[in-house]
Amino acid sequence: MSRLLIVANRLPITVTATETGVEVQRSMGGLATGLMRPHEQSDGLWIGWSGAPDDLDAERQARLDEELAAMRLVNVPLSSDQVTQFYEGFSNGVLWPLFHYLLDQMPLHVSHWEGYVEANEAFADVVAAHYRPGDLIWVHDYQLLLLPGLLRDRLPGARIGFFLHIPFPSEELFRTLPARDRLLQGMLGADLVGFHTPAYLRHFATSLTDILGHSVEIDRVQLPGREVRLGVFPMGVDAASFAAMAADPAVEAEARTIRGDGSARILVGVDRLDYTKGIPRRLLAYERMLEIHPELRKRVRLVQVAVPSRTNVGAYQDFRALVDGLVGRINGAFGTPRWVPVHYIFRALSESELVALYRAADVMLVTPLRDGMNLVAKEFIASRVDGDGVLVLSEFAGASWELPEALQVNPYDVEGAAEVFYRALGMPREERRARLTPLRTRVQTFDVHRWVASFLEQLSELTPAGPRSGPAAGSVAVHRALAWRLVETESLLLLLDYDGTLVPFTPTPELARPDRELLALLRALAGRPDTEVHVVSGRPQNTLEEWLGELPVWLHAEHGFVSRDPETRQWVPAAELGGSWREPVLAILREITQRTPGSLVEIKAAALAWHYRMADQETGARRANELRLHLNQLLSNQPVEILAGNRVIEIRPYGVHKGRIVPPLTPERQAATAILAIGDDRTDEDLFGALPSDAITVRVGPGATRARFRLDGVAAVRRVLHSLVESGLAAVPDKR
Ligand code: UDP
Repeated sequence: MSRLLIVANRLPITVTATETGVEVQRSMGGLATGLMRPHEQSDGLWIGWSGAPDDLDAERQARLDEELAAMRLVNVPLSSDQVTQFYEGFSNGVLWPLFHYLLDQMPLHVSHWEGYVEANEAFADVVAAHYRPGDLIWVHDYQLLLLPGLLRDRLPGARIGFFLHIPFPSEELFRTLPARDRLLQGMLGADLVGFHTPAYLRHFATSLTDILGHSVEIDRVQLPGREVRLGVFPMGVDAASFAAMAADPAVEAEARTIRGDGSARILVGVDRLDYTKGIPRRLLAYERMLEIHPELRKRVRLVQVAVPSRTNVGAYQDFRALVDGLVGRINGAFGTPRWVPVHYIFRALSESELVALYRAADVMLVTPLRDGMNLVAKEFIASRVDGDGVLVLSEFAGASWELPEALQVNPYDVEGAAEVFYRALGMPREERRARLTPLRTRVQTFDVHRWVASFLEQLSELTPAGPRSGPAAGSVAVHRALAWRLVETESLLLLLDYDGTLVPFTPTPELARPDRELLALLRALAGRPDTEVHVVSGRPQNTLEEWLGELPVWLHAEHGFVSRDPETRQWVPAAELGGSWREPVLAILREITQRTPGSLVEIKAAALAWHYRMADQETGARRANELRLHLNQLLSNQPVEILAGNRVIEIRPYGVHKGRIVPPLTPERQAATAILAIGDDRTDEDLFGALPSDAITVRVGPGATRARFRLDGVAAVRRVLHSLVESGLAAVPDKR
C-alpha cells in the first residue's frame, strides 16, 4: 500500500492553549472519520493548518509539535493575517458564494487573491518537503484549487488526486471569476479530479472546453504529455456508526423525551448557519403552512439547529440577524403560552444529541439553496434504524441525485415547499417505509469508507505522470534556436496557423481578414531563398482563397483536408471525399437537429459537424452524449473519428488533422531543412506532434503544449517572422 498524504485546509483537530500547555482534541467530522482509517493504515501524513492560536509561546509550540508528530499530522504554518485573506477573504468570501450560485453574497470587489495564492504556495512547500517517491497525494476542496498545479511543478512524477466537496458551478457563472484560468489550471495539476455528482463534473468539463479550449472526453482530458481523469464519487457517511448510536438505549430514551407526549409532530432542520442552507425560506414555508393549514397549529413544531459558523465573515453576521428575526416573527405571531412553533438552537450539538434528534423527527427538512452533497440528509437516513421518518430534500443538494425516493422540493418556491412539508406530515406509514427502505440500503452500501476506497483505488491505478518540462518562453529563445538551425541547414519550411497566430482573434470570424502588413510579410517570406511557406487553418477553402489566394504560398483549409500548392493553385483533397459513412451519419444528424431546437448541421468538404451552441445547455449536452453513443456503434469499423469540441460533435475521416500537411521529407532533406511551426490551439498540437524533434515548434499564448517554445501573442510571432525577412537569417549567434 502506498503511503497516503492527505492535504486539507484544516487538520482534523482543535487546539486550545491551557494554563499548563496545549490541549489537542480530535474533531470527528465526516471527512475525518472516513480518512482516519487509510491515514493510519498507510502510515501516511495528514497535512493542513492546525488552527492553533499564532501567539503560542515556545514551550507550548514545542508541546504541540510533539503531539502533532505522534498523530502524524503536519502543520502548515499560516499567520492570522494569511488566514484572514486566504480562508475568510478569498475561500469563504468569494469562492464559497460563487460556487453555490449566490452572487449576491459576493463582495463587489473580488480581493484577497494574492493571499489565496500565497497560502496555496505555503501548502505546496510543506507537501513537497514531506513527499517521498511512490506516495499518493490527495488534496481536498475549494481552499486548495491551485495546489495540484503547484505540486505538479514541484513534483512532476507524483500521483495527485483532487476532490471538490462543494458544487462546481455552471461555466457561465464560473467564468465571472477574474482568476478562472489559473484556478482551472491548478485543478488540472491532478491526475484524478473527483466531484460529488455528474452535473458538477459536466460543468467543470464545459469550463475546461470553453475557457481553456481543452477537448474533454466524458471522463478525461488529454493534456500534452499526460492525461487527467475526471470522476464522480458521491461522498457517504459512516452509516454503521450512526446506526449503532441510534440504537443505543440512552439515545432512544432521549428521542422519546424530545417527542414528549406525542401531541405535536416534529419537523427538524440541522444546518450550519450558512446562507446556502435555505433556512430563511424554510422558515417562510413553515410559516406559510401554518397560515394555510391552521389545524396544524399546536400540533406541529419545528426544531431548528443552527450551528454557528464563519462568524468572522461579514455576510454571516448579517445572515444571523435575518434568521433570528424570522424565528422571532413566527413565534411572536403564532406562539401561545403552551406552544412555541419554532424551537431554535444556536449552538453545536453533541453527536448523541444530534442522533437523538434525527430519531425523534417525523420529518427531516434538508432544503439548501445549493449544497455540494449534504451529509445531514444521509446521517438522518442512517440513523433511522426504526425504518420510519420522512426526508424532505432540496433538488439543489448534491444528495438529491442519489436519493430520489426522498420528497424533493424546490427551496426557492416557498408556496410549493409549504405544500411538500404538509404532505410529508400526512404521509401514510406504508409510504414512509417504502421510501425509506431503498434510501437506507443505498446509504449503508455507499458509505464514507466505500467513498474513500473507490477514489484511492482509481488514483493508485493511474500511471504516475512522466516528468514534464515546460516550453522555453519568449522571442529571444525562438530567435536563438532558429538562428542555430539556419546556420546548419540550407532551406526553411514555415508552417503557420492563421487565426490567433498571424492575426488576432476578432469578435466575428469575417473580421479576421489579413491586413496589408501581413500580406506583405507572407509575400516576402515566400520570396526568401529556399523557403516554403504553408498557411494551415481550420477555415474553409473559399475563405483562404479569397484572403490569401494571391500569395505564392501553400494553403491548407479545414485543418489540412484540402490543400493548394503555390504553382498550380489547384485545391486537392488529402483523402477520399465522401465515404459510405456520410449518408447514414447525415441522416442521424438531421434527425437529432430536428429534435434539438437551436442546433444545426454543418457540411464540410471532409467532415460533418453537429453544433449545439445555441441549444439549451442541458438538452444539448444530453443529446450530444446520446449522439456519440449512437455514432460510436454505427461507425465502429469505419475509418472515421468522432471528436467532441466546444459544443460541437465533429465526424471526420480518420487521421485528417493538421499534422498530415507536413510534407514528406527524406532523412537527408530533413537534416538540411529548418522547420518552424507556429500555432495557438489544440489542432496545432497535432501538427507539432507530426514534426521531427529538431523542428522549432512554437505555441502562441497560454495552455498546455507539446511545443518547445512559447510566444505570447500575434505581435511576437510577426516580430520573429520579420526578422527572418530582414536579416535573411535570424540574429546568428556566434557559433564558437
Ligand atoms: N453537525 C455537527 N454538529 C451539530 C450539527 C451537525 O457536527 O451540532 C455535523 C453533521 O453531523 C454533519 C455536518 O455537521 O456531518 C454537516 O455536513 P453537511 O454536509 O450537511 O453540511 P456542511 O456543513 O458540510 O456544509
